[in-house]
Amino acid sequence: MNDQCIFCKIIKGEIPSTKVFENENVIGIKDIQPAAPIHILFIHRNHSKNINEMCANNPQDLVEIFKAIKEFSEQEKIDQSGFRIIANTGADGGQTVFHTHFHLLSGKKMHHL
Ligand code: 5GP
Ligand code: ZN
Repeated sequence: MNDQCIFCKIIKGEIPSTKVFENENVIGIKDIQPAAPIHILFIHRNHSKNINEMCANNPQDLVEIFKAIKEFSEQEKIDQSGFRIIANTGADGGQTVFHTHFHLLSGKKMHHL
């Protein structure tokens, strides 16, 4: 936990959020500025600043996040129609919240990168 971190505060319930997925390891919340009809942030309860730090210190957290994404996508029946996962990393990656998270975007056809 990091007392200054907005996603840690969301995990602790100190800042409200719309949770669409939750288990002992991971939460999935609606992004406040959705970029697609379905825009969910998958966040591990353990604080790490980005995917590299998570990979170095707690690689199991990555597996737990992707298991959560699998479960959610099957529940929402977007596993067949498809979805996009993004992890913005660092300043050039456009990261604005420094608690590792994965954006799940779905509900429309994405443009090719
Ligand atoms: P990043 O830019 O770091 O990849 O993603 C951060 C995301 O968090 C942004 O898409 C932004 O809209 C979202 N966000 C920032 N603050 C909050 C908040 O308080 N609640 C929710 N649900 N999303 C937030
Ligand atoms: Zn945090």
